[in-house]
Parts: sequence; C-alpha cells; structure tokens
Amino acid sequence: MSETFGFRVAATDGKARTGVISTPRGEIRTPAFMPVGTAATVKAMMPESVAATGADILLGNTYHLMLRPTAERIDRLGGLHRFMNWDKPILTDSGGFQVMSLTALRKLNEEGVRFKSHIDGSEHWLTPERSMEIQRLLGSDIVMCFDECPALPATEAEVAKSMRLSMRWAQRSRDAFGDRPGHALFGIMQGGVTQELREESAEALKAIGFDGYAIGGLAVGEGQAAMFGVLDYAPQTLPEDKPRYLMGVGKPDDIVGAVVRGVDMMDCVLPSRSGRTGQAWTRRGQVNIKNARHQDDPRPLDEDCTCPACRNYSRAYLHHVFRAQEIISSMLLTWHNLHYYQELMAGLRGAISEGRLSDFVAAFEAQRSAGDIEPLTLT
Ligand SMILES: [Zn+2]
Repeated sequence: MSETFGFRVAATDGKARTGVISTPRGEIRTPAFMPVGTAATVKAMMPESVAATGADILLGNTYHLMLRPTAERIDRLGGLHRFMNWDKPILTDSGGFQVMSLTALRKLNEEGVRFKSHIDGSEHWLTPERSMEIQRLLGSDIVMCFDECPALPATEAEVAKSMRLSMRWAQRSRDAFGDRPGHALFGIMQGGVTQELREESAEALKAIGFDGYAIGGLAVGEGQAAMFGVLDYAPQTLPEDKPRYLMGVGKPDDIVGAVVRGVDMMDCVLPSRSGRTGQAWTRRGQVNIKNARHQDDPRPLDEDCTCPACRNYSRAYLHHVFRAQEIISSMLLTWHNLHYYQELMAGLRGAISEGRLSDFVAAFEAQRSAGDIEPLTLT
C-alpha cells in the first residue's frame, strides 16, 4: 500500500480517463462511484456488504457527524473508520453545502456560517478552519475545502460573489489543513453555469494547489443539459494529473455523461435512497417495485445481476416486502442499486482501458431505451 496520496491515469478514451488513486488505506479505481454514508452508515447496509458491491471508498457528511455524535466523540473512539467499521478510504464533505440546504437561521459572513442544528436547534459556527479541524478529527482520507453554494435561483453577480468568497475560503482551508502526508485536500470549483466564472475559479484553485479538484455547484436543479454544458469544458480547465470529482451526481445516465467528459469520481445518495422508496436502477432503466405488475412475478429484478436480491429473490417477493414495509426491502433494494452502480463503473473502466467507450455508451443507452422486461401475462 502507498504511504502517500497519489493518482495515476492508466488509459484514456477521448476525454474519459481510467486510473488509480492510491492512499494508505487502499486504492480507489477510477472512474469511481462513492456511496454516501451520511451518519456513519450507508443506510440499510453492513459495511462489508458495501465493500462487496465493489465500492473502494465512501463519503461521510461533516454536517451530520459534527452535530451527532460530534467529531470530538468520534475522535475519542478512534476515528470514523474504526467507529463505523470501514477500513477503506473515506472522503468527507466540508459541511458547507448541507448547512445551506438543511438549516434555517443562517448567518453568512467573511468569517464563515453560523447556523442552528436541524436536530435540536443548538447554535454552531462553521468556518474553513473549523471544517478542517472536524475532518481531521474524523480521520478523513480525502478532505474537502469549505465552500459556499449559493441558493438557486441566483443572479450571475450573486454567483460570482459567492464563488470569490469560496476561493478565499479555499486558501484558508489550504492553510488550516497544513501538511498531512497520506491525506488529501481537494479544492472545489464554483461559478454556476457561467464559463468565465468557472475558469476564474479553476485558475484560483490551481494557484493555491490541491491534491484533487472537485466541480461543485452542479446537480442542484439546473437540469442535465445545463450540467453537461458545464462539463463540456470544466474538467479540462483542471490539472490533468489530479483526480476530478463531480459532487452529488447522479442518475446512471448523468454518471456516464460525466465520465465521457473526463470526470474521475462521483457520489450520490440516489442508489441508497431509492432503495428505501421501492425504486430499483437496472440496466433496463428504473423499476418501481411497488407496481402491482410484480406481485405474481417469479422472475428476478435483473436475471443477469449477481447481487443477492437478484440471485435469491423474485420480483414478487421484493414487491411483497416493500408493501409490507419489512426492513429487508430496504436492505435488498439498496444492495441491488449499489451493486448496479458499481457494475456500471467497472464497465466504464473496462471500456476506457480497452478503447471502446463509445460502443459501451451506445449499448448502455440502447438497453435503457428498450425498457423493463414485459410484464407476465397470467393465464
Ligand atoms: Zn441485483
């Protein structure tokens, strides 16, 4: 295992890249999808099951963990890896995005953000320095800069002002992070959907210097066409020899589109959240297991999928346990969804390394547009 943090691109196909991020806690194969373990758990999954789906890294949320059980308590208990029984790499977000999206009564100034907890109304400060301290206490392998994400809709002037504040906070994050061998600090590009602002942000981040670069402020309701519009140029404004991380994305077709445009890492609550609401993601698109068409169907969700939900259970069973609100429903559908996402990433990595990404994308789109298998007709 590597003593330090590093990144190596092994192959490219068009703008897409495949490679390996090395950390003292193990390697991350890219393009990588990171399941979200919000409150020190990927909901409905044991950590060994998350690893069995093929995940090399997961994401933890600074905002949730600082409020409960607190970063100081996790530190006293040996750090987040030990606390949640996950020994592979962990990336933590900075808390900034969730403070803006989950809390009321925020007060934002140059120093940072004051907010009230959504749990008990207690008051807290988050600043670049405090965010770095929390992520250090958690023992995060990949630390994210503290940034501000403007609430939408916002004018271009508001987006510009917010981006420049985030760039000043990026410098403060870099200073507070210090020198921590084996741990990485990623900068976060902002700038909305305006190319000049995105480019200004990229230049500011590169002047500070980071171990990796995230593209923030997308997947916040602008729509796929606008997001791809930014991704058509944004990854190429960032250093080629560092990982590029698209935050909070997304649906399978968002992921494929981002990888084609040169993104190396992504995270999203979608596969795990969908698993708890009866939505399955398959090669044939989205399947709503609540639908009555499944109630007598002895076939698996996806006959080619090797996950436990598809190997051992019928659509009829998955339908039943969802309707009966049994806990195993969330467990099985989350497992399937995470497994499908990781298979998609493995497929993308293989296609890039063999130079057949466009064929892979064409097959991906053809299968999805064909749709789910025909319902059984009962005789
Ligand atoms: Zn499956």
